[in-house]
Amino acid sequence: MARRKIIAGNWKMNMTPSEAVALVETLKPLVQNEDVDVVFGVPAIDIVPVVEACKGTNIAVAAENMYFEESGAYTGEIAPKMLVDAGVKYVILGHSERRDYFKETDADINKKVLKAIEHGITPIMCCGESLEQREQGITMDFIRQQVKIGLQNVTADQAKNLVIAYEPIWAIGTGKTATSQQAEEVCKGIRQCIAEIYDDATAAEIRIQYGGSVNAGNAAELFAMEDIDGGLVGGASLKPDFGKIVCYNK
Ligand code: PEP
Repeated sequence: MARRKIIAGNWKMNMTPSEAVALVETLKPLVQNEDVDVVFGVPAIDIVPVVEACKGTNIAVAAENMYFEESGAYTGEIAPKMLVDAGVKYVILGHSERRDYFKETDADINKKVLKAIEHGITPIMCCGESLEQREQGITMDFIRQQVKIGLQNVTADQAKNLVIAYEPIWAIGTGKTATSQQAEEVCKGIRQCIAEIYDDATAAEIRIQYGGSVNAGNAAELFAMEDIDGGLVGGASLKPDFGKIVCYNK
Protein backbone atom coordinates (compact mmCIF):
# COMPACT_ATOMS: atom_id res chain seq x y z
CA MET A 1 0.00 0.00 0.00
CA ALA A 2 1.44 3.34 -1.06
CA ARG A 3 1.63 5.88 1.70
CA ARG A 4 -0.25 9.11 1.06
CA LYS A 5 1.98 12.18 1.14
CA ILE A 6 1.43 14.73 3.89
CA ILE A 7 2.74 18.27 3.49
CA ALA A 8 2.43 20.56 6.49
CA GLY A 9 3.30 24.19 6.99
CA ASN A 10 4.73 25.36 10.29
CA TRP A 11 3.99 29.07 10.59
CA LYS A 12 5.92 29.29 13.90
CA MET A 13 5.34 32.65 15.69
CA ASN A 14 4.18 34.51 12.60
CA MET A 15 0.84 35.94 11.43
CA THR A 16 -1.67 37.89 13.49
CA PRO A 17 -5.24 36.52 13.29
CA SER A 18 -6.20 38.87 10.46
CA GLU A 19 -2.95 38.23 8.57
CA ALA A 20 -3.55 34.50 9.05
CA VAL A 21 -6.97 34.63 7.40
CA ALA A 22 -5.55 36.67 4.52
CA LEU A 23 -2.77 34.09 4.04
CA VAL A 24 -5.29 31.24 4.00
CA GLU A 25 -7.29 33.08 1.32
CA THR A 26 -4.13 33.51 -0.77
CA LEU A 27 -3.02 29.88 -0.37
CA LYS A 28 -6.41 28.13 -0.68
CA PRO A 29 -6.50 27.98 -4.47
CA LEU A 30 -2.78 27.16 -4.67
CA VAL A 31 -2.76 24.07 -2.43
CA GLN A 32 -5.26 21.95 -4.33
CA ASN A 33 -3.68 18.52 -4.75
CA GLU A 34 -5.86 15.44 -4.36
CA ASP A 35 -2.77 13.24 -3.88
CA VAL A 36 -1.63 15.03 -0.73
CA ASP A 37 -2.89 15.68 2.81
CA VAL A 38 -2.40 19.42 3.33
CA VAL A 39 -1.94 20.81 6.84
CA PHE A 40 -1.42 24.36 8.10
CA GLY A 41 0.32 24.48 11.52
CA VAL A 42 -0.60 27.84 13.02
CA PRO A 43 -0.08 29.79 16.27
CA ALA A 44 -2.68 29.12 18.99
CA ILE A 45 -4.43 32.46 18.61
CA ASP A 46 -4.89 31.89 14.88
CA ILE A 47 -6.48 28.45 15.23
CA VAL A 48 -10.13 29.52 15.46
CA PRO A 49 -10.13 31.97 12.52
CA VAL A 50 -7.96 29.66 10.39
CA VAL A 51 -10.24 26.64 10.98
CA GLU A 52 -13.17 28.83 9.96
CA ALA A 53 -11.34 30.09 6.86
CA CYS A 54 -10.41 26.51 5.86
CA LYS A 55 -13.98 25.14 6.09
CA GLY A 56 -14.98 23.37 2.90
CA THR A 57 -11.38 23.12 1.66
CA ASN A 58 -8.79 20.29 1.63
CA ILE A 59 -6.76 22.04 4.36
CA ALA A 60 -6.54 20.56 7.88
CA VAL A 61 -5.27 22.67 10.76
CA ALA A 62 -2.50 21.76 13.20
CA ALA A 63 -1.56 23.34 16.50
CA GLU A 64 2.15 23.97 17.05
CA ASN A 65 2.09 22.68 20.63
CA MET A 66 -0.25 21.28 23.28
CA TYR A 67 -0.04 20.49 26.98
CA PHE A 68 -0.33 16.94 28.33
CA GLU A 69 -2.82 17.65 31.12
CA GLU A 70 -6.61 17.69 30.69
CA SER A 71 -7.24 21.08 32.30
CA GLY A 72 -6.36 23.06 35.41
CA ALA A 73 -3.81 25.45 36.85
CA TYR A 74 -1.31 25.56 33.96
CA THR A 75 -1.32 29.24 33.06
CA GLY A 76 -0.68 29.87 29.40
CA GLU A 77 -1.02 26.26 28.24
CA ILE A 78 -3.53 24.81 25.77
CA ALA A 79 -5.44 21.60 26.59
CA PRO A 80 -6.10 18.86 24.03
CA LYS A 81 -9.88 19.16 24.32
CA MET A 82 -9.63 22.89 23.49
CA LEU A 83 -7.88 21.94 20.25
CA VAL A 84 -10.46 19.25 19.45
CA ASP A 85 -13.35 21.64 20.09
CA ALA A 86 -11.73 24.25 17.85
CA GLY A 87 -11.49 21.75 14.96
CA VAL A 88 -7.77 20.95 15.09
CA LYS A 89 -6.76 17.61 13.52
CA TYR A 90 -2.98 17.53 14.01
CA VAL A 91 -0.47 18.81 16.54
CA ILE A 92 3.24 19.43 15.95
CA LEU A 93 5.08 18.03 18.97
CA GLY A 94 8.73 18.20 19.95
CA HIS A 95 9.84 20.72 17.35
CA SER A 96 13.54 21.44 17.87
CA GLU A 97 12.72 25.07 18.76
CA ARG A 98 10.53 23.84 21.61
CA ARG A 99 13.19 21.37 22.72
CA ASP A 100 15.87 24.06 22.61
CA TYR A 101 14.19 27.27 23.85
CA PHE A 102 11.52 25.73 26.12
CA LYS A 103 13.53 22.74 27.35
CA GLU A 104 11.01 20.10 26.29
CA THR A 105 12.38 16.62 26.92
CA ASP A 106 11.69 13.33 25.13
CA ALA A 107 9.64 12.31 28.19
CA ASP A 108 7.48 15.48 27.95
CA ILE A 109 6.96 14.85 24.27
CA ASN A 110 5.95 11.24 24.97
CA LYS A 111 3.26 12.46 27.41
CA LYS A 112 1.99 14.90 24.80
CA VAL A 113 1.97 12.23 22.07
CA LEU A 114 -0.08 9.90 24.28
CA LYS A 115 -2.51 12.68 25.22
CA ALA A 116 -2.99 13.80 21.63
CA ILE A 117 -3.75 10.21 20.55
CA GLU A 118 -6.22 9.82 23.44
CA HIS A 119 -8.09 12.83 22.08
CA GLY A 120 -7.98 11.76 18.44
CA ILE A 121 -5.48 14.42 17.38
CA THR A 122 -2.70 13.15 15.09
CA PRO A 123 0.76 14.01 16.41
CA ILE A 124 3.44 15.19 14.03
CA MET A 125 6.36 14.18 16.23
CA CYS A 126 9.61 15.94 15.34
CA CYS A 127 13.11 14.59 15.73
CA GLY A 128 16.50 15.56 14.38
CA GLU A 129 20.17 15.93 15.12
CA SER A 130 22.38 18.99 15.60
CA LEU A 131 25.34 19.69 13.32
CA GLU A 132 27.68 18.64 16.12
CA GLN A 133 25.94 15.27 16.48
CA ARG A 134 26.09 14.73 12.72
CA GLU A 135 29.81 15.50 12.71
CA GLN A 136 30.35 13.13 15.63
CA GLY A 137 28.64 10.36 13.68
CA ILE A 138 25.88 9.85 16.25
CA THR A 139 22.91 11.06 14.16
CA MET A 140 21.05 7.76 14.16
CA ASP A 141 21.81 6.94 17.81
CA PHE A 142 20.37 10.28 18.86
CA ILE A 143 17.29 10.06 16.66
CA ARG A 144 16.57 6.46 17.66
CA GLN A 145 16.50 7.60 21.28
CA GLN A 146 14.13 10.49 20.48
CA VAL A 147 11.81 8.14 18.58
CA LYS A 148 11.92 5.31 21.13
CA ILE A 149 11.18 7.55 24.11
CA GLY A 150 8.66 9.64 22.19
CA LEU A 151 6.67 6.51 21.31
CA GLN A 152 6.78 4.77 24.69
CA ASN A 153 3.43 3.09 25.48
CA VAL A 154 2.07 3.95 22.03
CA THR A 155 0.55 0.80 20.52
CA ALA A 156 1.27 -0.42 16.99
CA ASP A 157 -2.25 0.49 15.87
CA GLN A 158 -1.83 3.99 17.23
CA ALA A 159 1.65 4.35 15.77
CA LYS A 160 0.41 3.51 12.25
CA ASN A 161 -1.55 6.78 12.17
CA LEU A 162 1.22 8.98 13.48
CA VAL A 163 3.44 11.29 11.50
CA ILE A 164 7.13 11.63 12.29
CA ALA A 165 9.00 14.67 10.99
CA TYR A 166 12.73 14.28 10.54
CA GLU A 167 14.19 17.75 10.82
CA PRO A 168 17.97 18.09 11.06
CA ILE A 169 18.47 21.15 13.27
CA TRP A 170 21.26 22.45 11.05
CA ALA A 171 18.84 22.63 8.13
CA ILE A 172 15.98 24.48 9.86
CA GLY A 173 15.65 28.10 8.79
CA THR A 174 19.23 28.12 7.52
CA GLY A 175 18.60 27.68 3.81
CA LYS A 176 20.85 24.62 4.10
CA THR A 177 18.82 21.61 2.98
CA ALA A 178 19.90 18.04 3.64
CA THR A 179 20.63 16.35 0.33
CA SER A 180 17.89 13.97 -0.72
CA GLN A 181 20.32 11.09 0.02
CA GLN A 182 21.06 12.37 3.55
CA ALA A 183 17.34 12.89 4.23
CA GLU A 184 16.43 9.46 2.83
CA GLU A 185 19.14 7.72 4.84
CA VAL A 186 17.77 9.02 8.13
CA CYS A 187 14.09 8.56 7.20
CA LYS A 188 14.88 4.94 6.27
CA GLY A 189 16.69 4.56 9.61
CA ILE A 190 13.63 5.89 11.44
CA ARG A 191 11.46 3.37 9.59
CA GLN A 192 13.83 0.56 10.62
CA CYS A 193 13.60 1.78 14.21
CA ILE A 194 9.77 1.63 13.99
CA ALA A 195 10.03 -1.92 12.64
CA GLU A 196 12.20 -2.87 15.64
CA ILE A 197 9.82 -1.27 18.15
CA TYR A 198 6.69 -2.69 16.48
CA ASP A 199 6.78 -4.71 13.25
CA ASP A 200 7.26 -4.33 9.49
CA ALA A 201 3.57 -3.61 8.86
CA THR A 202 3.60 -0.64 11.25
CA ALA A 203 6.85 0.62 9.74
CA ALA A 204 5.34 0.39 6.27
CA GLU A 205 2.34 2.52 7.23
CA ILE A 206 3.76 5.28 9.39
CA ARG A 207 4.39 8.50 7.50
CA ILE A 208 7.78 10.18 7.81
CA GLN A 209 8.26 13.75 6.64
CA TYR A 210 11.46 15.62 5.96
CA GLY A 211 11.77 19.21 7.18
CA GLY A 212 14.56 21.75 6.87
CA SER A 213 14.64 24.50 4.23
CA VAL A 214 12.21 22.70 1.91
CA ASN A 215 11.33 25.02 -0.98
CA ALA A 216 9.68 24.97 -4.38
CA GLY A 217 12.99 24.03 -6.00
CA ASN A 218 13.93 21.00 -3.88
CA ALA A 219 10.53 19.56 -2.82
CA ALA A 220 10.01 17.22 -5.78
CA GLU A 221 13.43 15.57 -5.41
CA LEU A 222 13.05 15.12 -1.64
CA PHE A 223 9.48 13.79 -1.85
CA ALA A 224 10.48 11.30 -4.56
CA MET A 225 12.66 9.40 -2.08
CA GLU A 226 11.33 6.01 -1.02
CA ASP A 227 11.01 6.72 2.70
CA ILE A 228 10.06 10.42 2.58
CA ASP A 229 6.31 10.85 2.75
CA GLY A 230 6.10 14.62 2.47
CA GLY A 231 7.45 17.59 4.33
CA LEU A 232 7.21 19.91 7.29
CA VAL A 233 7.83 23.36 5.88
CA GLY A 234 8.67 26.49 7.87
CA GLY A 235 9.64 29.68 6.03
CA ALA A 236 8.24 28.69 2.63
CA SER A 237 4.81 27.86 4.11
CA LEU A 238 4.16 31.59 4.57
CA LYS A 239 4.49 32.31 0.87
CA PRO A 240 2.61 31.45 -2.32
CA ASP A 241 5.56 29.10 -2.97
CA PHE A 242 3.88 26.71 -0.52
CA GLY A 243 1.41 26.00 -3.32
CA LYS A 244 4.28 24.84 -5.53
CA ILE A 245 5.58 22.60 -2.74
CA VAL A 246 2.14 21.02 -2.21
CA CYS A 247 1.74 20.58 -5.98
CA TYR A 248 5.29 19.17 -6.34
CA ASN A 249 4.03 16.32 -8.56
CA LYS A 250 1.98 18.41 -11.01
C1 PEP B 1 10.42 24.01 10.53
O1 PEP B 1 10.28 24.99 11.23
O2 PEP B 1 9.87 22.96 10.86
C2 PEP B 1 11.24 24.12 9.32
C3 PEP B 1 11.55 23.05 8.67
O3 PEP B 1 11.64 25.39 8.95
P1 PEP B 1 12.29 25.82 7.52
O4 PEP B 1 11.49 25.16 6.45
O5 PEP B 1 12.16 27.32 7.50
O6 PEP B 1 13.71 25.36 7.54
